[in-house]
Amino acid sequence: MVCGLTSCLGSGAAGGLFSSAVQFFAATQCLVGETWPKDSVLQNGSRYDFIIVGAGTAGSALAARLSEVANFSVLLLEAGGDPPIEAIIPAFRETLKASSVDWNFTSVENNITSQALKRGIEQQPRGKMLGGSGSLNHMVYARGFPSDYHEWASIAGETWNWTNVLKYFMKTEHMTDTNIVNNPELMVYHGRGGAIEVSGTNEVMFSIKKFLQAFEELGFKTVPDMTYPNSIGAGCFSHTIRNGERDSSLRALLNNANSTSLHILKDAFVTKIIIENGTAIGIEAVKDDEKFLFYADREVILSAGTFNTPKLLMLSGVGPSEHLRSLGIDVVADLPVGSNLHDHAMVLAFLVADNGTCVSDEAENSMEAIKYLYDRTGFLAKADNMAAYLPLSSSEPTVPEFALYPTCIPQFSPFRSGCLTLGLNEDLCTELHNLNQEYELVTIAAVLLKPKSRGKVELNSINPFDDPLIYAGTFSEEQDLDHFPRLIKMAWSIADTNYFRSKNARVIKPWVEACSNLTESAWIKCMSRAMVTSAWHSVGTAAMGTVVDGDLKVLGINGLRVVDASVMPKIIRGNTNAPVVMIAEIAADLIKEHYSVSRTGTNLNNMTIGNLTASSMPNISQPNINLADVIENNDMINSSLIEVEITNVEIITTTDRQSDIDDTVNVA
Ligand SMILES: Cc1cc2nc3c(=O)[nH]c(=O)nc-3n(C[C@H](O)[C@H](O)[C@H](O)COP(=O)(O)OP(=O)(O)OC[C@H]3O[C@@H](n4cnc5c(N)ncnc54)[C@H](O)[C@@H]3O)c2cc1C
Repeated sequence: MVCGLTSCLGSGAAGGLFSSAVQFFAATQCLVGETWPKDSVLQNGSRYDFIIVGAGTAGSALAARLSEVANFSVLLLEAGGDPPIEAIIPAFRETLKASSVDWNFTSVENNITSQALKRGIEQQPRGKMLGGSGSLNHMVYARGFPSDYHEWASIAGETWNWTNVLKYFMKTEHMTDTNIVNNPELMVYHGRGGAIEVSGTNEVMFSIKKFLQAFEELGFKTVPDMTYPNSIGAGCFSHTIRNGERDSSLRALLNNANSTSLHILKDAFVTKIIIENGTAIGIEAVKDDEKFLFYADREVILSAGTFNTPKLLMLSGVGPSEHLRSLGIDVVADLPVGSNLHDHAMVLAFLVADNGTCVSDEAENSMEAIKYLYDRTGFLAKADNMAAYLPLSSSEPTVPEFALYPTCIPQFSPFRSGCLTLGLNEDLCTELHNLNQEYELVTIAAVLLKPKSRGKVELNSINPFDDPLIYAGTFSEEQDLDHFPRLIKMAWSIADTNYFRSKNARVIKPWVEACSNLTESAWIKCMSRAMVTSAWHSVGTAAMGTVVDGDLKVLGINGLRVVDASVMPKIIRGNTNAPVVMIAEIAADLIKEHYSVSRTGTNLNNMTIGNLTASSMPNISQPNINLADVIENNDMINSSLIEVEITNVEIITTTDRQSDIDDTVNVA
């Protein structure tokens, strides 16, 4: 994500560290490692209750949760293999982009935007390994804001309202950030004891402290918790890091999953969903050049991400009929798959400043490596990121529409390679690299959090190994571009704050050929159009409300769900990883609730809670009963005194909602 530009552009100690990376890796190979889940040996034609395609952020969490049910059999297929060591050490996150564990997607050239990008296209990195993009992302922990989920609920039903999604954010979370845990007012919104650690301290880099001061001078409130629902300002993010190592749904959930009911097939490229008479019955996959068919007795679940999920749906006949017919694909369901693609649009503003502005307080030498290997501390263990959230107008100060993510880049940084990975063209990267030989660089990523523009994903061909066509659609709505003069000028105003003024900070306007001889605001708009990149948060291509329903079932097809970032009907105001985990947690409960009833034929009338019987509880006769909800919604129940008597019920919901009902439930 954008805030990782610190590392993205090779600032801080990373510069020195990358240069000695080879020695470091030699040392770490035996000292940093992980036992990844085993690859299964499976018979062609095998049957499972559930088949999940893609072991990314969503697929890893979902597979782990479904495998909690002993008599569910689950097959999880992943096109990539085990993550490399760089996926564990936080400071090395940037080295994974444009590598063999990245799908290396790009957008299609449109001749309207991206003139200052390499080949006129946006880079779209995505993880191709266990953990998916959750194994290469920047570990920033964000959730979006309540109004994002009010919007979802109005489209897809109350499952997705803020109160409900908050429960699930808290369920997965183990908050240890010392800026938050000691503050009861903040902790109301956080979980302890969940699977994924969310950590942080106030020991942040010198430059981050200086940026916080600068934003305060510019009138931003400093906030201690960037996820706090009703307050925005500038602050440091918490990160999904545990003991100096990346924490993710892979490491925290899949690695600890029940391996008797879960089968994982790595390096298995799913090429098609088999749909017969309107029901998804299995998938086709290729592993080691061999074709496999696997069958699902209950459901096929797509968790292949915003670009590959729509591709698989379309290859299988689910998509816009005109597009499918143009490729000779038989249409099984005519749905707007692939449309509604959107992302946070990001434009970089630049300042130069005197040497010493960034003050690299991390030692640029092998001590960092030794520190890391000794006790997982130091620069390598961290991912400091901050942002300033801005509202659309001062009348709505609790909801951000934009964000500024600043980074300070010391002189002589290996800026060029990060610049090219981000996607800027050779000329721009050379110009910025040359400036960095003389000055320190301050980059401020200006990001639009609620774009109106929409793009689409289409098939390139019927060959499943061809990448999908990604029409990013950035600035297809001119209003989105109109915000950038204000945003970029706000970013530039950091040069007028005390510390940066004392370091002779000044704005630089990189040369963008298409934008010469324009007035300032016109130049900013022109430059923004030319330099805009993805912030790597693309969503929406199998959206709730148009492609899937509120239970994430594909409309008009039985036995097929989508569970990943593509179901977001509208992008949330923040980084998308934790929301994708939340989506997977909710999906797991929806699936468990659905099958726990229809599968066991449970007689729920035999259920009593405290002195209440089923008949005295209005919810109890409904098929989708959830014990935690019954308890939560019933004032008469004192949850510390609950005893549950259940006959012939699979206690799926009880164990799964353990965090809701604590360990005070005794099941007789
Ligand atoms: C560079 C980068 C930095 C980011 N930084 C942050 C951040 O700091 N904080 C944050 O909150 N969010 C961040 N994000 C966004 C976040 O990581 C994603 O939104 C999230 O991981 C998406 O999860 P997903 O499950 O939808 O897809 P993914 O995690 O991408 O998972 C999809 C999985 O499906 C597999 N797959 C695809 N096609 C097939 C197939 N045909 N057969 C088998 N397997 C297949 C893929 O290999 C992959 O493992 C970042 C994203 C990127 C790319």
